[in-house]
Amino acid sequence: MCENSPPIDKLVNGFRRFHDERFAQRDAYFQALVREGQCPRVLFLACSDSRVDPAIVFGTDPGDLFIIRNVANIVPPYETNTGQHGVSAAIEYAVDVLEVEHIIINGHSQCGGIRALCENPGEAHIDSPSLVYRWLALARPAYDRARADYPQAPVDELARECEKDSILASLDNLMTFPMVERRVREGRLQLHGWYFDMAAGKLHGYDRNTGRFEPLGQTAP
Ligand SMILES: [Zn+2]
Repeated sequence: MCENSPPIDKLVNGFRRFHDERFAQRDAYFQALVREGQCPRVLFLACSDSRVDPAIVFGTDPGDLFIIRNVANIVPPYETNTGQHGVSAAIEYAVDVLEVEHIIINGHSQCGGIRALCENPGEAHIDSPSLVYRWLALARPAYDRARADYPQAPVDELARECEKDSILASLDNLMTFPMVERRVREGRLQLHGWYFDMAAGKLHGYDRNTGRFEPLGQTAP
């Protein structure tokens, strides 16, 4: 087990600190959220990785972000079969009911899911006995693209490219959702692909004009 894994009492103490230092100090803010309901303007889709908590990395408050987290921050394509699609249900709710104005796909470096895909691409298929690899099959096209672009790259380098290509694939998959496509077309919804380089502490955003991930919010080096 990692040395910094929190025992339960760390969570309970954390809640006590939240109550005393934030909730009690901003009671009116929280009561307004209770009274009026949530009204987030951003749907934020991040990896389940414990190191990339959106509220901490981006300094948000309760009510700011409607958040989906899953292994490797993947958006599946829109489907109307009989499956019960948790990620897709959250996207539909955020767009149709909450009417968010932005959807951010936030990938990150050192992603364990993408690393597993790059190390064992043959395992990532819909019939895999592993639920993780079945899920990662959604990112297999991104892996194939990264591998084609960098045929000789070692796995670390390949994973960095695959992490970014997977963000772009998820942006494409978002547009297969009719409610997303319609609102983007109407100019009421913007889609963003972000990449958090955990080792360097840097954030990049995909720029459709340059076709590259460009620095966002950098302070002086
Ligand atoms: Zn990850």
